[in-house]
Parts: sequence; structure tokens; C-alpha cells
Amino acid sequence: MKTAGRIHPVYAEMERTVFDRMSALAREHGAINLGQGFPDGPPPPALIEAASRALYERSSQYPPGAGLMELREAICGYYARRQGLELAPEQVTVTSGATEALAAAVFAFVKPGDEVILFQPAYDAYAPLVRRAGGIPVSVPLLPPDFRYPAEALEAALQKRSTLLARSGLPDPAPAKPRVLMLNDPLNPAGTVASHEELAMIAKACVEHDLIAICDEVWEDVRFDGVPHRSLLRFPGMAERTVKIGSAGKIFGLTGWKIGWMIAAGPLATALARAHQFLTFATAVPLQWAVAEGLALPDAVLDGQRGQWAAARERLKAGLAGAGYAVLPNAATWFLTVDLAASGIGLKDRVFSERAVIEAGVASVPVSALYQGEEVPEHLVRFCFTKPMDVLDEAAARLARFRAEIAG
Ligand code: PMP
Ligand code: GLN
Repeated sequence: MKTAGRIHPVYAEMERTVFDRMSALAREHGAINLGQGFPDGPPPPALIEAASRALYERSSQYPPGAGLMELREAICGYYARRQGLELAPEQVTVTSGATEALAAAVFAFVKPGDEVILFQPAYDAYAPLVRRAGGIPVSVPLLPPDFRYPAEALEAALQKRSTLLARSGLPDPAPAKPRVLMLNDPLNPAGTVASHEELAMIAKACVEHDLIAICDEVWEDVRFDGVPHRSLLRFPGMAERTVKIGSAGKIFGLTGWKIGWMIAAGPLATALARAHQFLTFATAVPLQWAVAEGLALPDAVLDGQRGQWAAARERLKAGLAGAGYAVLPNAATWFLTVDLAASGIGLKDRVFSERAVIEAGVASVPVSALYQGEEVPEHLVRFCFTKPMDVLDEAAARLARFRAEIAG
């Protein structure tokens, strides 16, 4: 069979994700994997115990498509306790990780020809999902070193098409309009957290332009230095137009469990549940029971885990700084970003990452892989720090030797 022209254009040219590629290279070269984001430490024992108990004692047949009621209630309880949100289980759909929630939300709300505001850098699934839904990604770049949200650039992106049309004087047969905005706060890969003012500005733009906000908050509980999390959902006018997405993978450091969820008000929640029912219908039921128990654990359990991650962050930051790398500020996520240019390294990020995994035995993620469009910085590399201390020390030592070889 001739396949040319038969494969959807989004997939025809697509590469393997940078995370999968760097993990494969790390395996191939026996490298320390600080690329793809996952913790090496053992998962919270209470969750392992709860999952195995569920395997023995609970049904292994299909749960309700929207998720176990016990888990949906636990998600609401968790957000009431930790974020002061008043949510009802009917607003929650449990998904196979946040990735499925993102897909369901994009498929539910992006129609062919709709523009979708995407801040860059962005999790690599966003743009392909938007394109597969027939939408048009409109990039608003966030620039290093602080990755702040630019009000003017956002407004320009929202106004661009109408301004261009007005100047041309031509009628538009089918004007594309921004309909959806995707926000990831805290932000992967930068590890930054939006301020109250930035979120208020984004919320105002969403209300004024009647946008639905798909708000990817998977890193909401991986924050350091007392930096608070504020859900976009809480800003005026946003409860009715926000999809809040979360993931047990990040909250508990259980990335392979792939239990996530999406939350929205009435009519949006119904559309999300419909999109989900024909993506996966339902997700692994023993793990749903375990996550329900996990979300009800005392806050001290999560705080203890966060304390370990914070210590690992300090260790890698000190190791990299000691090795001559310029580390950007980080307030959240499992990642530190290094500025290669400021570290005296002239290599582009992709070249650095490819060489470092082979020559130094340390995998990283080139940040340019998470940008699309123009204004792509090519001097930033991301390292995951949720690893044992001796592994971080060895990685820093290897990167010190590597820098000595390549720095100008
Ligand atoms: N969104 C962001 C911003 C992420 O960083 C990740 C995973 N690292 C996901 C979504 C996907 O989460 P999950 O593994 O639950 O699908
Ligand atoms: N988002 C994760 C990271 O930033 C990876 C997720 C994946 O591999 N699909 O490392």
C-alpha cells in the first residue's frame, strides 16, 4: 500500500518526543538520566499498599467512565483542603494521566479553524493536539531568564488577526478567532510560577475575549520556598470557563501510574466527559482506589516528600554551580534550567544534550524542543533533580569534566 498522503499530516512528520528519545539514549549509553522528568525514589508506601490491597479486594472490571465516585470525592476534598476550592464530584472526570485530560479538553473545545493561544515553552503535546483538532496554535513566547507573562504580546496575539484584516480592508470569509488559551502553571520546563498580577491579567484577557482556559496545573503541589499556587479558576469570571487539569503522577511522584483528572463547571464538564469516553472510556481501577486513599493522607506525607525534593534541588543546584554552570532561578517542578551561554558554552542546546549523554554520560532535555515558532532560545538545557544524592553528585562531577572540555 502506498502510504504517502494517507497519514494525518500532524503525524506524518512527527519525531519521537524529546523525553522518550533522551531516555532511550540514556539507556543505550548507560548514562545518568536527568532528562525525562521522574523521581527515582520509592513511591509513598501507603499508595503501594493501597494499590495492592485494591488488586486483591476490589473489582478489576470497568469502573464508571468518569472515574470512581470515591476518587472524584477525594479530588474535591484535596482541593478544598489545599486550595480552598469548592468543587463537586460531578465536575471531575478521571483520565489516564494529564496527557489524556489535555487531549480531551482540546478535542472538546477546539473546532477546525479556531485559534488557540499557546504560551511557549509548552509541554510538547499541546501544539500537536491543537493541530490534530484542526485548531491554529498562536504562540506567545515567554523569554528567559524569568519567563514572565507579557501582557502586550498576549493582547497582540489576541488582536492580530482582526488588525491584519482591518488593514487589508478585505472581508474575511471565515475569520479564525481565538477561542481557547492553554496555560501551564507552574511552568515546565522553566520551573517558574505565575504571579497574582500575571494570572489576573490572563484571566481578564480570557473574560474580555470570551476564551476557554485549559489550565494545566499538574505541578501545583511541586513548589518550593513557600511560593503559593493560585488556580486560574479562582479569578473573577473564570470558574465557568476554566478546565483545571491535575495529575497524581506529579503529586505523588508516580509518573507511571498515569492517573490524572480534569475539572470544569457544568456544561464544560459534560463535554469533557464525552470526549474522555471515546478516548479511553475509563482508567486503571486499582490505581484509582489507591490515589483516592493517597489524596486523603495527612499533609505531612506530601510535605515530607516535597522536603526531599527540595533538598535534591539544592544539591544539584550547588553541584552544577560548582561545576561552572549558570543555573536559572527555580520555584517549582522537578527541573533546573542551565544557561549554556552564561556558562561559557557556545554549543546549541540540542548539540549539548546529544553530546552530554554520549560523552559525559548525563542525559538532559534541550529546552528548544519545548518551543515552537519564532524566538526560540537555543542556549537552555533542563536537568531533573529528583534523584538520590549520590547520583546527583556523580552527574555534577561528570558535567564538570564535560564543561572543562567544551567551554570556550
Ligand atoms: N503537563 C505537563 C506540564 C507536564 O509536565 C506533564 C508531564 N511531565 C504532563 C502534562 C503529563 O502528565 P501525565 O504524566 O499525568 O500525563
Ligand atoms: N512531561 C515530562 C517531562 O517533562 C515527560 C512526559 C513524557 O515523557 N511524556 O519530563
